[in-house]
Amino acid sequence: MEPLEKYIDGGGKEAVLSLHNHSVWSDGAGTAEEMCRAAKEAGVRVFGLSDHWVVHPDPELMPVSWSIAPGKLPAYLEELARLKDIFNDENFTLLAGLEVDFFFENFEEVLAGLDRLQPDYLIGSVHYAGRFPIDNCAGDWKALSADGIRAVCETYWNKMLGAAECGRFSLLGHLDLPKKFGFLPDPGAYLPDARRVLDAAAARNIPIELNTAGWSKECREPYPSPEILREARARNIRVIIGADAHCPQHVTRNFAAAARLLRETDRTR
Ligand SMILES: [Zn+2]
Ligand SMILES: [Zn+2]
Repeated sequence: MEPLEKYIDGGGKEAVLSLHNHSVWSDGAGTAEEMCRAAKEAGVRVFGLSDHWVVHPDPELMPVSWSIAPGKLPAYLEELARLKDIFNDENFTLLAGLEVDFFFENFEEVLAGLDRLQPDYLIGSVHYAGRFPIDNCAGDWKALSADGIRAVCETYWNKMLGAAECGRFSLLGHLDLPKKFGFLPDPGAYLPDARRVLDAAAARNIPIELNTAGWSKECREPYPSPEILREARARNIRVIIGADAHCPQHVTRNFAAAARLLRETDRTR
């Protein structure tokens, strides 16, 4: 995999780059082709599809319904290679990525399997704390006690730290995802955990994303929070704005607001 450096956003060109997007290969609503067409029409210059690749170590939870189906990875990458031939020109580059779930139990094996297939980039994300699906629905969180919430968050941040420390991901996805449904009593309580992950990312020169999907969820703010974003910029961590689009209409959703937030953050740090 080539480093993403040459593609990273700079200076307010908010629609130049969009690397966090899903299609019907995992849990998106648009075909890969529809997503590419929408991105090109929206003025995106470098567009990445990053469908979910989830290999849960608990066999009872496999296959995960919102992941690319087991055995279908080569076909996914072949389809994206075909779309590169159709869509790529001097103004548009399609990249074939994956959003990979990090698990301590199997990350080495999972990543070794992906090396053989050579995707263009990998987003390292955490959607599970043990068997608990972090971003599935508010009801899952409602059923947790305060201690349960704390335990999920602790596991989440440890796994994100593992994802950063393994040094194998091109960028880290949606930091602070556990706030999604608004069940954190005090998000600030997790700042020390976030700082550990940011230190690890900074030490390895791994970018994080500014994921704009959170603005449209119950938490009403991007991932990560402005506070964590400020900490990231103070460590000179590069930031890639991503939509986490699951349909063609969303490939640059909230990008202008994200670019504004980044500029404000950089001005005030
Ligand atoms: Zn995700
Ligand atoms: Zn995603």
